[in-house]
Amino acid sequence: MNTAELDSDVIIIGAGPSGAIAAALLRQKGHQVTILEKQHFPRFSIGESLLPQCMAFIEEAGMMPAVEAAGFQYKNGAAFHYDGRNGAFDFREKFTPGWGTTWQVQRDRFDQILAQEAEKQGTPIHYGHEITAADFSGEQPVLSVRTDDGRQYQARARYVLDASGFGRVLPRLLDLETPSEFPVRVSLFTHIEDRIDHPGHDRNKILITVHPEHRDVWYWLIPFSNGRSSLGVVVRPDMLDARSGEPMAVLQQMVSEDPNLSEVLANAQWDTPVREIRGYSRNVRQLCGKNYALLGNAAEFLDPVFSSGVTIAMKSASLAVDVLDRQLRGETVDWQADYAEPLMVGVDTFRTYVNAWYEGSFQDVVFAENPSEQIKAMVSSILAGYAWDTDNPYVSESERRLGTLAEICRA
Ligand SMILES: Cc1cc2nc3c(=O)[nH]c(=O)nc-3n(C[C@H](O)[C@H](O)[C@H](O)COP(=O)(O)OP(=O)(O)OC[C@H]3O[C@@H](n4cnc5c(N)ncnc54)[C@H](O)[C@@H]3O)c2cc1C
Repeated sequence: MNTAELDSDVIIIGAGPSGAIAAALLRQKGHQVTILEKQHFPRFSIGESLLPQCMAFIEEAGMMPAVEAAGFQYKNGAAFHYDGRNGAFDFREKFTPGWGTTWQVQRDRFDQILAQEAEKQGTPIHYGHEITAADFSGEQPVLSVRTDDGRQYQARARYVLDASGFGRVLPRLLDLETPSEFPVRVSLFTHIEDRIDHPGHDRNKILITVHPEHRDVWYWLIPFSNGRSSLGVVVRPDMLDARSGEPMAVLQQMVSEDPNLSEVLANAQWDTPVREIRGYSRNVRQLCGKNYALLGNAAEFLDPVFSSGVTIAMKSASLAVDVLDRQLRGETVDWQADYAEPLMVGVDTFRTYVNAWYEGSFQDVVFAENPSEQIKAMVSSILAGYAWDTDNPYVSESERRLGTLAEICRA
């Protein structure tokens, strides 16, 4: 066993969006940071439709020129379809000030760019280094690391940020996991050569299609800038388990059940194996503890329907870095009040909209005819990721406002 030790002010577990943004922001404030990443980049990740709110964090981290240069697909909103009815939100027409556009990204490239930018700004990233154990009992946390060439060593830090996404390293090792309040759902997804020439289709928007018979089943279509698209469906496990056949045949069959989506994808080439993720919604008892905080998906994952994952991941990085910077400078900080509670403002806003989506009331809002422009702008702000803007009544009183709005739309 190699007992080489690694010492850093801050160790970040994982080099996804939350880890890379946190590293860049910490370096800007002069702290020594090391990222330990289990995989080698580029690596596949789901979560390809960004929200405009996350542009502010990419900018703050000094990574905008590199991401802009990559030529990702421009995105200005979200389009919805349900049984012949259409709804669309243009993020540029929103209540909250700030970015109104963003991108649809292949995450292998996007995440690699963010990680490379973090490295250029002075954070070493050790790829193929997996955290296998964590000891927070002493004055400084100690992590056990196993490299993919079989070495093992201990890494010590003043503080650990867990940005391990669905790896959920500290929630597992410190027994922080709690069941999600959302029922188990399954997603089947792939990338296709889309060959879309449908006149009604807008490549600048994610297309969310509600299944014509099952309103809790929905599909995403996320076009990329290279003529390819990400395509996926979210279903209840029983509905999927009742179908036989290979995953690709099942996904194709599900797409064929919606006439509009089948028409849009009439010429698509299905050239990539279909993947499955099951039971992805997760929760934790606490977002922070002695010498650690959980970022992004390592903390909580709600649901993919509003593409909020990367935005929440980057917001968590930005909030955590502000508190950690003050702590490392010797100030007394309150992680619960200064990190967990502010983060949950936006997470809880999204939670209200996710619940209302599956319960059907938010779908009534999305497909309402002639909605008020002012209300649409407020809802658009949330769909654009501005879920922390408490000046927006659809954030500050999300449940009550949304309930009333759904009633008006149904009348
Ligand atoms: C079906 C589905 C669709 C989605 N669609 C969207 C979408 O359209 N838009 C959106 O914004 N979000 C979407 N998401 C959510 C999105 O995937 C995540 O929220 C986002 O990737 C979280 O980023 P992160 O930085 O927290 O973690 P990740 O991007 O997952 O990065 C975590 C990193 O940690 C590393 N790691 C894991 N374990 C260890 C370990 N033991 N040691 C060291 N490193 C480790 C991993 O290798 C990985 O590179 C979707 C999720 C699902 C399930």
